[in-house]
Amino acid sequence: MTSPTSPALRGAERTALVTGGNRGIGLAISLALREAGCRVIVGCRSGAAPQGLEAVPLEVTQTASVDAAFDAVTQLTGGPVEVLVANAGIAKDQLLMRLSDDDLDSVLDTNLGGAIRCARRASKGMIRLKRGRLIFVSSVVGLYGSAGQVNYAASKSGLVGVARSISRELGGRGITANVVAPGFIDTAMTEGLPEDLKKKYRAAIPAGRFGTVDEVAAAVNFLASPQASYITGAVLPIDGGLGMGN
Ligand code: NDP
Repeated sequence: MTSPTSPALRGAERTALVTGGNRGIGLAISLALREAGCRVIVGCRSGAAPQGLEAVPLEVTQTASVDAAFDAVTQLTGGPVEVLVANAGIAKDQLLMRLSDDDLDSVLDTNLGGAIRCARRASKGMIRLKRGRLIFVSSVVGLYGSAGQVNYAASKSGLVGVARSISRELGGRGITANVVAPGFIDTAMTEGLPEDLKKKYRAAIPAGRFGTVDEVAAAVNFLASPQASYITGAVLPIDGGLGMGN
């Protein structure tokens, strides 16, 4: 039997693909996984590697691009992806009555469809490898709800069903599938919010502050680690207590 801390599962031998790893939360996750000893490949639309990381071009809404990205990773590393972090995401907020088909379709297709396409492709190599980590970046909004974010919330709560279904399909093959649900995180997205709104949000967060990208990265890093080998189908909130109970 392979123990969770056997050499085969140590970070040094593992290849991690982080979608949307070129900036924001994805970049912090990429750097944390690299720090933990993974060989990290960033999947991003430009294919340009940030901060000394390696990158492959990836458009998560296109199956052909997903296949090409995974093939490119294998060419670079000589092996399959062992850790997939499905982080790429967009938001197109609008009140329900004004929500256009395009805003609905593009958000679902990127956040939910994109994650499924990448997980589907990653699972092939993981099944052969007999181990793997699938980590889906959801949001507190997926379970808590948020006015004006019906499309985004649907895409993010959908990831919970995805991770739990994969856990049931592939749990016996050494593959785990988990969700992280960040709350308000200090990123370019939240930086642009008006100060009075930020104050209101902070008052609702038990921790009294927004989180950092490094705090999200630390949680992902744990779920990717050998120490998390018996955790699957879980939803880990990183939200300062905002969504507790949900
Ligand atoms: P950013 O907007 O900074 O980054 C989004 C990333 O997704 C970019 O790398 C972007 O690539 C990539 N991306 C978007 N669409 C596609 C696509 N079709 N194909 C490939 N890559 C794509 O977001 P954040 O870092 O703030 O968020 C990262 C994740 O965390 C998202 O899933 C988001 O929903 C989630 N999240 C964020 C929170 C926050 O407070 N910021 C809170 C909760 C969850 P490109 O550079 O090419 O545009």
